[in-house]
Amino acid sequence: MTGICWTCKKNGTIILRNAGCEIERQSDVHFNTINNAIVAANEHIDHVRRDRHYCRKVLKRTKDAIKKLDLTIERPVNQVEVEVHYSFDYAQQVHYPNDPLQPGPIYFLIQRKCCLFGVCCEAFPRQVTYLVDEVMDTGKGANTVVSYVHHYIENHGVNGSMIHLNADKCTGQKKNNSLIQYLAWRVLTHRNKSFKISFLPVGHTKFSTDWCVGLIKQLFRKTAVGSLEDIAKRY
Ligand SMILES: [Zn+2]
Repeated sequence: MTGICWTCKKNGTIILRNAGCEIERQSDVHFNTINNAIVAANEHIDHVRRDRHYCRKVLKRTKDAIKKLDLTIERPVNQVEVEVHYSFDYAQQVHYPNDPLQPGPIYFLIQRKCCLFGVCCEAFPRQVTYLVDEVMDTGKGANTVVSYVHHYIENHGVNGSMIHLNADKCTGQKKNNSLIQYLAWRVLTHRNKSFKISFLPVGHTKFSTDWCVGLIKQLFRKTAVGSLEDIAKRY
């Protein structure tokens, strides 16, 4: 989930508030506060830039590696000697039934919720979006995330033996621990050779899943949807 970065917001507010203030009127303490905020903001942006640069480098490397593969041949699960990159994230839920040309109020008191969880393989580029009806929704806990990731690795994507995952940092510590335990289990049981997982800083987690979900939502706003099957068929 992408929110506003707290560090950026905090530093930005201090800098903006004092932008119009004349230097003669500023006390030493005041001046130091602004200076510190500018230094902190620069350091933070550099940190984010470094992370993004690393992420882009991994994407390019995996893309080049996958280009050399013949993807028309069916391969055994996770046995292909190649490094692949997947990113996954929850998206904002959608509500149905939905009609863009809805005349007047809808018949139902409350619309049904559908939760979206996307796993994207940027090298194709192709995303698998899990549509979770509110009856099946068991929350955004560790168990759920691990189950989706497990299903994706076993059934979709390039069957690469080395996997690089990208997730956002806002998922609770417990969730990350469970995911790392699951990935360690995959390596120990020889399902995969290695795993890497990167977390982008909170508030700067715009990656491919957000982009794909954006496309789904654009289409969703324009199409009449009556049921979960409708969503699955049209997107
Ligand atoms: Zn920030």
